[in-house]
Amino acid sequence: MASIITNLRVVRARIAAAARAAGRDPASVSLLAVSKTWPASQVHAAFEAGQRAFGENYVQEGTEKVAALAELGLVWHFIGPVQSNKTRLVADAFDWVHSIDRLKIAERLSAQRDAARPPLQVCLQVNVSGEASKSGVAPDEAPALAHAVAALPRLCLRGLMCIPEPDGDQGTLRRRFALLRQLRERLVSEGLALDTLSMGMSHDLEAAIAEGATLVRVGTAIFGERQYP
Ligand SMILES: *Cc1c(COP(=O)(O)O)cnc(C)c1O
Repeated sequence: MASIITNLRVVRARIAAAARAAGRDPASVSLLAVSKTWPASQVHAAFEAGQRAFGENYVQEGTEKVAALAELGLVWHFIGPVQSNKTRLVADAFDWVHSIDRLKIAERLSAQRDAARPPLQVCLQVNVSGEASKSGVAPDEAPALAHAVAALPRLCLRGLMCIPEPDGDQGTLRRRFALLRQLRERLVSEGLALDTLSMGMSHDLEAAIAEGATLVRVGTAIFGERQYP
């Protein structure tokens, strides 16, 4: 089995190659290591290989790792669905949330974010795949949600996130990612300072970078195949 250090090197090289192929600066794409299902020891191994930003999907698992690794000064991103009875845990433990798709959740996160800490950095999750997906705000409802979230005091709206259907072919993926890019362009033209397009995973990060991803969320290609209990 390849080591995390080797895998990280390969993923970083893929990101750099995809950026150059798109005429972009490789430094304009950041890497979020998705550590869901993996123990804190694996996160520590990635830390030793220079990785600082980590993504988690499950509140209890994520908050345990955040606490266990607190002294490392990592940046933690919550990328899974947020239930309203878990917003306080998320607001306390995480630096970023990528999966905002309802105003009610955003309002709770803003109200519960500790005033002594920086605002929670957030992205709206947009459903770019229509019927093929259940989570995310519909693209035509995203502008109203974005303006409402941007007005919340303890959140900082940074951008948009999407998860296209996993079985999409290259053409479909490119269109899904292009939709998110165009939506960000529209919101920027409406005065929102959005600098983040969170899109692309292990199998599709090249297509996402070609369409303007600024952050790719990669799990399997770094840590290996996940085993769910
Ligand atoms: C699990 C997950 C990822 C990482 O997926 P891989 O295919 O393992 O790279 C990225 N984003 C989200 C939202 C996820 O849930």
